[in-house]
Amino acid sequence: MGAKNLLITGGSRGIGAATARRAAEAGWNVAINCRRDLGAAESVAEAVRAAGRRAVVVPADIGRESELMAMFAHVDAELGPLHGLVSNAGVVDVAARVEAMGAERLARMWAINLSGSVLCAREAIRRMSTARGGTGGAIVNLSSAAARVGSPGLYLDYSMSKAAIDHFTTGLAREVAAEGIRVNAVRPGIIDTEIHAGSGHAERVAASLHLIPMARLGTADEVARAVVWLLSDEAAYVSGALLDVAGGR
Ligand code: NAP
Repeated sequence: MGAKNLLITGGSRGIGAATARRAAEAGWNVAINCRRDLGAAESVAEAVRAAGRRAVVVPADIGRESELMAMFAHVDAELGPLHGLVSNAGVVDVAARVEAMGAERLARMWAINLSGSVLCAREAIRRMSTARGGTGGAIVNLSSAAARVGSPGLYLDYSMSKAAIDHFTTGLAREVAAEGIRVNAVRPGIIDTEIHAGSGHAERVAASLHLIPMARLGTADEVARAVVWLLSDEAAYVSGALLDVAGGR
């Protein structure tokens, strides 16, 4: 078989973009999803092509099922059979205590961070499961160290969505293990990306160094290396793992 086909949600910047680059080096063709910044996604696609692999940009809002379904159809048509999924698209909201969180905020958080990952996994399994004529594959979900620490006073809604991703990873890994599909999660600590601007607390990140035993932020590339390893045959007996990439935190 030639190169395998990988879909990365939220692949236009940050951890998703770094994963696309590392995955291409490891031999994957890559479908790069994003919601709005098509120019950024296209430059990631160019990097994948420069590494000698195929790339396609597949825009969709992961929080909307109809767009997500169209995205998978787009990948089918452009790349062919799917062998890997990295469920990476995720958001934080502005820092707030629970007293200030409304239903609209919570619905958006669950739709993108939680339902988006579950529905992407569903579509990937429909294509990869050996019970459905597929050849198997690997799913990596982006959780967060926040799932363990709760992020009180900042974004408890976000940490709850990631704790649910941990639970989903554990259960789904067992559900599809006999169908050739491995399911794992990576739990990054505080990584130097643009996501922190979304909480309105980018400066708080710099002030969080004392919480990290290694006393530095992680890089997107350091997370990407763990994701690509979990996708690879080197991790052939690894499923249901929650891998902390968090500087010892
Ligand atoms: P980022 O730099 O903010 O990038 C987020 C990516 O997701 C972008 O490509 C963005 O594309 C896309 N995206 C956002 N909402 C989307 C939606 N509704 N539909 C489709 N794409 C969407 O984030 P990051 O820091 O790389 O984080 C990636 C993942 O790692 C997230 O799941 C995050 O929760 C997790 N994580 C990050 C950290 C950290 O410290 N950075 C720590 C732990 C876990 P557009 O720009 O086009 O919207």
